[in-house]
Amino acid sequence: MSSRDNSHTRKLRWAVTIFALALGIVLCVGASRSNPPKNLLDLMVSGGTVVTMDGQRTVIDNGAVGVKGERIVAVGAAADLKRRFTAKQTIDAGGMLVIPGLINTHGHAPMALFRGIADDLTLMEWLNRYIFPAEKKNVDEAFVRWGTKLACAEMLKSGTTTYVDMYYFEEAVAEETKLAGMRAVLGETIIDFPSPDHKTVEAALEYTEKFLKRWRGDSLITAAVAPHSPYLCSVKTLTACRALADKYEAPLLIHLSETRAEVEQVRERYQATSTEHLEKIGLLKGRVLGAHGVWLSDNDIRILKAKQVGIAHCPESNMKLASGVAPVIRMRQAGVAVGLGTDGAASNNDLDMFQEMDTAAKLHKLYNNDPTALRAADVLEMATIAGARSLGMDKEIGSLEPGKRADLLLVSLDHPNEIPFYNAYSHLVYAIKGAEVSDSIINGKVVMKARKLLTLDEKTIYRKAREYRDRILQSLK
Ligand SMILES: [Zn+2]
Repeated sequence: MSSRDNSHTRKLRWAVTIFALALGIVLCVGASRSNPPKNLLDLMVSGGTVVTMDGQRTVIDNGAVGVKGERIVAVGAAADLKRRFTAKQTIDAGGMLVIPGLINTHGHAPMALFRGIADDLTLMEWLNRYIFPAEKKNVDEAFVRWGTKLACAEMLKSGTTTYVDMYYFEEAVAEETKLAGMRAVLGETIIDFPSPDHKTVEAALEYTEKFLKRWRGDSLITAAVAPHSPYLCSVKTLTACRALADKYEAPLLIHLSETRAEVEQVRERYQATSTEHLEKIGLLKGRVLGAHGVWLSDNDIRILKAKQVGIAHCPESNMKLASGVAPVIRMRQAGVAVGLGTDGAASNNDLDMFQEMDTAAKLHKLYNNDPTALRAADVLEMATIAGARSLGMDKEIGSLEPGKRADLLLVSLDHPNEIPFYNAYSHLVYAIKGAEVSDSIINGKVVMKARKLLTLDEKTIYRKAREYRDRILQSLK
């Protein structure tokens, strides 16, 4: 072909291309006029039974949840959402349950590395012979990082999307949690004796202030102030903690009335119950979450309600250490926000919130001699929206509703223990195990797909954790 022919062909091609483009634009404009483009979602979870935990406790068969960015924008029938939206990514939840992510309201994540180190002992023997020496000899920043990674893997794989933690080197806990893509409320433990990372209360307070500043406004990590307890913190320490929480409008986490011995000790020192003492010194204002709340009087419960203090109920830890049975039914009747927590893996010994729900329901039926005392739906409420309320975060998490953070789970209904399926609440509390959660979405991001963690390297974490076991055993010799 000659060069003249070539240039001719090129011109012709240009003309055809320009014509095609113009035609395309005309067609597009025409189409969009007659049929406006659908609202574009980043993610649609479609099909399955959606258990919303909204105010009406709506359950939608063949439902769907629409997500844009970090938030839920629509919840409804799958057919309706498909009509209204298109999505960049769709996850088919057909034949599964779609529920809000579970909220573990009390724990000490890095203690996962002490899981099973010593059991079946009295609390004091367990603490003094094993936990305190093991902590003293092993807890440093690297320990906390690997322990947190292990705990996050376990929690994600059993349906927890938000957890509450008080331990040491909490900056490392926060960084690892953020990398895992989990939501958490975290506080450095402030205690009146030297801790693994601080020799004095002043140093721990200074660290906490930096921690509060660094994580302010983060979409996953909420920094908190975490004095250990009314028996291991002086009035001076507690007052300083309250001032810091006020200054940064941060939540305050504290152990409260866990054992009878604690309450007796506090009564001897301050002539008051733990709750009365904390009220008297002005600690109970703002967002306060008390862990355990086992030994509470009617007056204590009245104070907790009046001051809107949330309680993290940890039935398995309380049972294992024989601490007692928290008055959950009385607290709920009084209108106290009661969430559910596992406590650290050393006193549980796992972080599975499904197991914790099952235990909570059965414990309070037995204790109250009443099978209707705590129903399955009540317990799921404690693990979701009531847990969120106990943290003052119920506008953000705890239910599947437009405007809330997109924290949700897809749960299988395909295992023999899930067949047949009659009632979602019953299955979630009494039949399903944490290992049957299939997918987990946190803040709009898929962090577990078909049980594979997308944010954590499981193999390396498990290898490291096994290495720590040998080191810890050696240190106790
Ligand atoms: Zn604890």
